[in-house]
Amino acid sequence: MPEPPIPKAERSVDKECMENRLRIRKRLRILVLKVGSQILTDESGALYPRAFGQIARQVALLRSEGVRIVLVSSGAIAAGREKIGLGKKPLSLALKQAAASAGQTPLMIHWERALGRYGIHTAQILLTPADIIDRERFTNLERTAETLLSLGIVPVVNENDAVATFEIRFGDNDRLSAYVAGLVRAECLLLLSDVSHLYTADPRVQSDARKIFCVHGITPEIERMAGVSRSGLGTGGMASKVSTALWANGWGLPVGVLKGDIPSGIFRFFEGMTGTLFDTCVGLPSNRKIWIGHFSRPKGGFRLDAGAAKALSEGKKSLLGAGVMGVDGQFSPKDPVFLVDPEGREIGRGISRVGSADWSKGMPGILVHRNDLVLSAQVNRETRENDNDLQ
Ligand code: GLU
Repeated sequence: MPEPPIPKAERSVDKECMENRLRIRKRLRILVLKVGSQILTDESGALYPRAFGQIARQVALLRSEGVRIVLVSSGAIAAGREKIGLGKKPLSLALKQAAASAGQTPLMIHWERALGRYGIHTAQILLTPADIIDRERFTNLERTAETLLSLGIVPVVNENDAVATFEIRFGDNDRLSAYVAGLVRAECLLLLSDVSHLYTADPRVQSDARKIFCVHGITPEIERMAGVSRSGLGTGGMASKVSTALWANGWGLPVGVLKGDIPSGIFRFFEGMTGTLFDTCVGLPSNRKIWIGHFSRPKGGFRLDAGAAKALSEGKKSLLGAGVMGVDGQFSPKDPVFLVDPEGREIGRGISRVGSADWSKGMPGILVHRNDLVLSAQVNRETRENDNDLQ
């Protein structure tokens, strides 16, 4: 596979990439900023007020231009370590959860203080995957977030570490921030951490490692690069950022990765002076459709015959009982379901009008209405992996 073009200098983002950044900047209404613990803490691991101040200043500037901001902030465990005096030693899961629980308050105090200087209030939202997967909780959350934003408040989101278990958690705030961006229908997600760009190789090991400014479509080669240029700090690293971008690009969300502790870094990113943009040409659907197609976790689904699979893939059709050969799993009416073609490939997801127990071969009528259906032009590996994580 050919190497990506060599950027001439830090400032020389190619024309197309530049235009894409400007396009995103121009239509920006809601921006989600994920802030990693590495940039909120000093060398001793303590929360660092200057870092909060630097981001708060940019948030205030963006807001003065009419952009609404949601923060997804890590740092609770770091703050808890400092508060309880746990030092930097490795912690058991229980201690990590205790630290996160104790540290969430100082973390919020820092944000409230930093943003308060600009007359901006914050609101805390702590989430677990169950809050996103469940349609009712998701819509409640959607309403709360929308109300907070319309009140001019900056929601500060974190994983609810105190109740999340190793098996059932977002894993890292990169992934959580993409869910949040989908929930609020943000036009862009920026991951602010200690890594400035995606590199062709690990720049600490290979002096010829080159920065990549723009990625259109994440290839296995890009994923390989992300693996080798892992930052090693925090739970995320570059691999997690690329995997988040791959997933989010699939449903229309552009994702930027940039160093979070440089002055005006967010503005510099949109001006093309820093960071890597993972761009997408997929149009952002309604968040109901994002939920059905990408956030829901169906417990079963319909096996379609070839005719129904073709009709659904080609046109805006509903799924009729006549086109279904069988059901897999168990589900109730109004549950999300997989739609699988005769080869076993998932071709979409939808909301079923019937329960699995009530289904019978050749039953008349609509099983999934086209308004409740999202086709997977690209059901990517990532979505499937994610399903397994959350079961
Ligand atoms: N929720 C964790 C914290 O607040 C951070 C998880 C992460 O950054 O990946 O410390």
